[in-house]
Amino acid sequence: MFKKILIANRGEIALRIQRACREMGIKSVVVYSTADRDAKYVKLADEAVCIGPAPSAQSYLNMPAIISTAEVTDAEAIHPGYGFLSENADFAERVEQSGFTFIGPTPESIRMMGDKVSAKQAMIKAGVPCVPGSEGALPEDPKEIVRIAREIKYPVIIKAAGGGGGRGMRVVHTEAALLHAVQTTRAEAGAAFGNSAVYMEKFLENPRHVEIQVLADQHKNAVWLGERDCSMQRRHQKIIEEAPAPGIPRRVIERVGERCSLACKRIGYRGAGTFEFLYEDGEFYFIEMNTRVQVEHPVTELVTGVDIVQMQIRVAAGEKLPFTQRNIEMRGHAIECRINAEDPYVFTPSPGRITLWHAPGGPGVRVDSHAYTNYFVPPNYDSMIGKIIVHADTREQALARMRTALSETLVEGILTNVPLHRELMVDAKFIEGGTSIHYLEGWLAQHRR
Ligand code: ADP
Repeated sequence: MFKKILIANRGEIALRIQRACREMGIKSVVVYSTADRDAKYVKLADEAVCIGPAPSAQSYLNMPAIISTAEVTDAEAIHPGYGFLSENADFAERVEQSGFTFIGPTPESIRMMGDKVSAKQAMIKAGVPCVPGSEGALPEDPKEIVRIAREIKYPVIIKAAGGGGGRGMRVVHTEAALLHAVQTTRAEAGAAFGNSAVYMEKFLENPRHVEIQVLADQHKNAVWLGERDCSMQRRHQKIIEEAPAPGIPRRVIERVGERCSLACKRIGYRGAGTFEFLYEDGEFYFIEMNTRVQVEHPVTELVTGVDIVQMQIRVAAGEKLPFTQRNIEMRGHAIECRINAEDPYVFTPSPGRITLWHAPGGPGVRVDSHAYTNYFVPPNYDSMIGKIIVHADTREQALARMRTALSETLVEGILTNVPLHRELMVDAKFIEGGTSIHYLEGWLAQHRR
């Protein structure tokens, strides 16, 4: 096992990784920007190294600074967390070439999944159900594009092969709008992602977002750890996640879960990963794979009892997975609310000093957050300042537990989305379960104040 790991991230996930290291008796080095000097995990760190000013390009995305910090501190491995460099194949490659272990999949896997056209092709080959669409990137020939769309049937969605973060997509409802949409998406994709390849998919009108968590080691073992329903989204940003996904028959989920772990074995995947699907009318459709730990991993940890971050570290060190699929059992229900420093209804960021931070507690309540009273939320990064996660025997009890936890949550000095979460936890449709990815935006439009 590693003796020392460098954490190349910030915020709650830096703290989460630090906790995993500490439990495993591994020393950790955190790198931080000047804006994060006072962060909790910096104070708690075995070693902390300032790698640059607030802008991420000069700190958390600064590969040479991060790798040379690993060199001077004698770290053996680098955990990239999520966001920043976590899905950057070049970074993974440079880390390994410099003699360190990248805690994540191989650069080849990251590259394959980072290009959505090659990811989809690999998934089709591995028997994972995908959204019906073009075979690979769209050709130049306009006639051919029109033919493909007719075959898929409108509405269709044009997506950039190199897209991410909900950008580089365009829905097309009629043939008249098709070629212009393809052209515009190509131009935008070229400018934004340096790759103008686009592909076409059937546009699903009212799907849910359901994803499968996987873990694989370097010895061809892979398991899937159940699913998460992340349909509560605004502008493709998830705000509430839960496990299991309400109302989907177990056998349907088991079939797709098995496909995902098989796909991991086929492509030689290692580490933690997530297969994201749209779910509509009883069918799963793969949209993309995330080759890293996700924000919402705790709901899976609570229902399976598996520490995903510790497992990432173990398999990166070459250990075998300590369990097989038969040992994985889902128990109870877990819900996560992401706490963002933002106006709860108009969503403008609300950075600044937290004058009072009172986190909830009690049985079955987990809070992953680096915030504290007097912590200054820097304006430079993502607005998420923590996550409240609850676990109980049933979904109903988990909802009650979350309502109680939110009622105990006091954050003063900045605005947060806690009031929004409080409202959603008593919303009849959410309580019923199974709302689509469009539900929250519709709800917000109705409750606009
Ligand atoms: P990104 O990497 O940018 O997040 P995804 O492929 O994961 O891109 O898609 C992001 C979101 O766009 C999905 O969660 C879904 O809301 C919407 N979307 C993508 N593909 C489709 C589709 N074929 N039909 C309907 N919605 C889609």
